[in-house]
Amino acid sequence: TEIAANKLQLQRANTKLHIISQTDGLTGLLNRKHWEEGLLHEFKRFQRYQHTCSLLMFDIDHFKRINDTYGHLMGDAVLRGLADVLSRHMRVPADLPARVGGEEFAILMPETDLEGALKVCRRVEKSLQTLPFFCSGKSFTVTLSMGVVESRDLLPENLLHYADANLYKAKAQGRDIIVASVEEEVLFRERVASLA
Ligand code: GH3
Ligand code: MG
Ligand code: MG
Repeated sequence: TEIAANKLQLQRANTKLHIISQTDGLTGLLNRKHWEEGLLHEFKRFQRYQHTCSLLMFDIDHFKRINDTYGHLMGDAVLRGLADVLSRHMRVPADLPARVGGEEFAILMPETDLEGALKVCRRVEKSLQTLPFFCSGKSFTVTLSMGVVESRDLLPENLLHYADANLYKAKAQGRDIIVASVEEEVLFRERVASLA
């Protein structure tokens, strides 16, 4: 029975390590490496069934300014707050959200067309608009720049490329904007803050 207890302990430790290796410690979201594995897995599936999927990549606007003004710990709190918003608006685990860089996130949405993906974008944006962060008597909100792409049969690396290119365009056009395309054709831009 001592052996059994040790075995159980070992199994628990292994499970813990497994989770740690897949997730980002600060936000609890998937890390980039594991998310990319998920992307490949989904890709094989939708290639077989010819399903539509959408990919969203977004980045917090002027995040460096938040760190500089309110401190790094407040920056961390913002990242966690954003991760909470995401988990409230995703069909987890159907939609695969990840922290792919410092203040950059990605969400793979299987069986979701551009219209559906835009709904998710707007919900996330709206939640952030109404989520003030408080620090030493001051409050502030954060905005995102978003790049979305709907794919029918893009390779994963092309999907990433187009989403990233759209995100780059959103930044270049002044931030707090969604730029969306079906494959490489940009169909849609909007400044989120101007929405009623
Ligand atoms: P832009 O609107 O162009 O995205 O401007 P930005 O300031 O958000 O972008 P930039 O790439 O210049 O700065 C990103 C900052 O994110 C710099 C880095 O210190 C900060 N950062 C990255 N990871 C973390 C983290 O885990 N915690 C905190 N607090 N800050 C982080
Ligand atoms: Mg940024
Ligand atoms: Mg960035």
